[in-house]
Amino acid sequence: MIKVHNPYRQKYHHSYNSDVCPFCNQEIIEKQNIKLLEGSYWMVFVNQYPILDGNLMLVTKRHVEDTSDLYENEWKELKEKVEETKAILSKVFETKSFNVGFNVGPDSGSSVRHLHWQVIPRIDRQVMNGFSGFIAGIHTVRISPKELKSKIEKAL
Ligand SMILES: [Zn+2]
Repeated sequence: MIKVHNPYRQKYHHSYNSDVCPFCNQEIIEKQNIKLLEGSYWMVFVNQYPILDGNLMLVTKRHVEDTSDLYENEWKELKEKVEETKAILSKVFETKSFNVGFNVGPDSGSSVRHLHWQVIPRIDRQVMNGFSGFIAGIHTVRISPKELKSKIEKAL
């Protein structure tokens, strides 16, 4: 089990008014400059509060909270966007390993109700915090969301 020290995620709970969906609010999306790609039904965002380095998210364009509310065409495009996102991260982080998937429902641990699919490249061995980090099993998120967006845009 890896422990994660994450300076970006600590800010999370103070950042959003819970009445405003951050993924539906164009002002927030533009201010945070998080949108990387856009399809017909999904957008690819850089996670402003990454779980691990390289954390991207696929977010539905319409406000949906449960997978049972997704239409067939949204599922179809999700598959394409997941593969596209994995290919981008594979190129940038030189890995073939990922954590991918949804958290659904109020007890799932998801911070935002609006359905989002996490894509996280797994590169733990290369980026552990030196020897002491390796021994303690501690991983620090080192790449800021802004740096990640810039890295990916250069690679595209
Ligand atoms: Zn929403």
